[in-house]
Amino acid sequence: MRKKIYLTFDDGVQEGTDEVLKVLSKNDIKASFFLVGINCFHMYMYERDQFNNKFQLLINNHLICNHTFSHALEFYSSYYENGVLINNKRISAFRDLTFNTKFFQWLLFKMNHRKCQMDNWFFRPPGRNILNDSDKNNLAILLSEIYNSHPSYPIMGWDLEWNMTFELSTFIREEVRKNHESKARFNPLQIINHTNEVLNQNVNFDRIKEKHQDVLEKIFRCPKDKIIILLHDRAFRFHPQIDFSEELDSLINKLKFLGYEFETLDKYYGQK
Ligand SMILES: [Zn+2]
Repeated sequence: MRKKIYLTFDDGVQEGTDEVLKVLSKNDIKASFFLVGINCFHMYMYERDQFNNKFQLLINNHLICNHTFSHALEFYSSYYENGVLINNKRISAFRDLTFNTKFFQWLLFKMNHRKCQMDNWFFRPPGRNILNDSDKNNLAILLSEIYNSHPSYPIMGWDLEWNMTFELSTFIREEVRKNHESKARFNPLQIINHTNEVLNQNVNFDRIKEKHQDVLEKIFRCPKDKIIILLHDRAFRFHPQIDFSEELDSLINKLKFLGYEFETLDKYYGQK
């Protein structure tokens, strides 16, 4: 059997989604995108045409998956224990996940994509890898809620990650902390509002720390026939000096040359 690669891009739609989509289209391969509702909502509200174009490409050519609405506002430990704090109210991780489904149902309805299946779309918890045993303990509350209501809900982690830096998470956590300390009424969109600006002003934030050759070696060392790889759109966004999307292109080219096949997660268990 030819080895299968599942490229999964987390946290979109965001800066870098365009660059990733271009590389995938050039190589004629499909990937899975774990979307964060709050990022999509922000772009839908403020850059609608741009958002619509990217979203259409994702729906028509790739697989969209659920990565929660709030992405825990980057506070993962407290999120899985107590939920995310918005306007002094705690919203559980499970409600955040189901709210994201409702949000995308609404969005797809607005955009006339009424046939797009959303009932059993793949879910990945933010900041945690379900395939890692120690992470599973953290996720116990969320997982029991999911399995009680949707016993067959597909939850996906990853086998290996294209390692990157995470300065943006630190920035968002600081913003949220300041906001809670000032006791101002808190609208998470205000924080998200800054994120694209922060990424644009800090071109070296959230960039890949490994060359494509390093990722290739990790793939060779992985004993599985089906390998799920975690990537983030923003790591490949425009940079004035370095074309990071070329690194992604090189990885895909070499894997194709070596006979690997690329699939979306809905094919992972063999169903069509
Ligand atoms: Zn994420």
